[in-house]
Amino acid sequence: NTSPSKPPALTSDTHKSSVPSDTVINFDHGDPTLFIPFWRRTGESSTIVIKGWQSMSYFSDIKSVCWFLEPGLADSILQLHHLVGNAETEGRHIVVGTGSSQLFLAAVYALAPRDTKEPISVVGAAPFYSSYQAASDYLRSEVFRWAGDAYAFERERVGGEERPYIELVTSPNNPDGFTREAVVNGSMGKIIYDFAYYWPHYTPITSPADKDIMLFTVSKSTGHAGTRIGWALVKDLEVAKRMTMFIVLNTIGVSKDSQLRAANILRTVISSYERKGGIIMGRGAYENFFKHGHELMSKRWERLRQAVDIHKRFSLPEFPSAFCNFLGRPSSTQPAFAWTKCEGDEIEDCEAFLKSHNILTRGGRSFGWDPKYVRISLLDTDSNFDIFINRISNIN
Ligand code: PMP
Repeated sequence: NTSPSKPPALTSDTHKSSVPSDTVINFDHGDPTLFIPFWRRTGESSTIVIKGWQSMSYFSDIKSVCWFLEPGLADSILQLHHLVGNAETEGRHIVVGTGSSQLFLAAVYALAPRDTKEPISVVGAAPFYSSYQAASDYLRSEVFRWAGDAYAFERERVGGEERPYIELVTSPNNPDGFTREAVVNGSMGKIIYDFAYYWPHYTPITSPADKDIMLFTVSKSTGHAGTRIGWALVKDLEVAKRMTMFIVLNTIGVSKDSQLRAANILRTVISSYERKGGIIMGRGAYENFFKHGHELMSKRWERLRQAVDIHKRFSLPEFPSAFCNFLGRPSSTQPAFAWTKCEGDEIEDCEAFLKSHNILTRGGRSFGWDPKYVRISLLDTDSNFDIFINRISNIN
């Protein structure tokens, strides 16, 4: 066993020999395994049984625009947003996807015009979520193309008319955790908002997001990345129809078994809260997911900042605090990733530097940024996080 059950105090010399230096820890992916102990404790209440004869049909609700969306999942999604207050749901169509990864592509396809020879440009402000570029480049679509950093984007004109473009806005942002708005602001812009991290454990919920296309996922809200369920709240009926068509052509719908499981997971979260006189109260310390998640993330950020402070080899972003309507008190931003800079002139490539210390991260270049930066996942297991903190504390 390479991981001490309790980390030693954070002083530079107590760490020296506590963890074998050859254990490679992979903090490149944002795999949300830190939430497993919480869900383990919920036991039967978060468990479902699907019998052999159940969920066999392709269809879920033929009256719905998204006819493969399970009604129970739709209900849970609406209730969860109502509870948390992070998104307007009135007048929206829900489109379910195999993760929000599928929905980002579905939304881009739905917004891309079919009647032009040139693919539509898709941009995101750097540092942007690396998969947008990776997925776009991989597909080499004829209808859209990744056009990079939104700040550097020059709006195109054809015959005196501005060409449409798509901007992806991730808020809070992956990798840096900051709250964002669109930056291009052209008259022909269509905007997709990725709210994967707009949940109380990562950032204060200041108002319900009220955008035309909003993406969410259980991967980052409850930590069920393996269930592969995301959802889009879409204002425009035609856009919702085209997104649905994309998913039909791709995968003829979305796993019903996963939808049923996701619905039950969301119900478990919802039923751990009650409203008393307009105030949201938890029903119990362990069953109260967002409170637990918030404490977990706070502790991780506190430990990371302490560790980084020892040798000042690295720097981290500072976040303003704001009143969180859901928690009912001021709260700070504590992102799922630490957007970390290697300080000092001698380190050009922070990813390679950390790799030499057996810490795998994702380097700045993947996000359209400087290689002096890396994105470090803070969502891994406690034992790996302990190793990471020990190791970071010892780099001088
Ligand atoms: N958007 C953002 C900003 C993400 O960070 C992620 C996951 N890393 C996704 C979308 C994709 O999530 P999913 O697992 O739902 O496909």
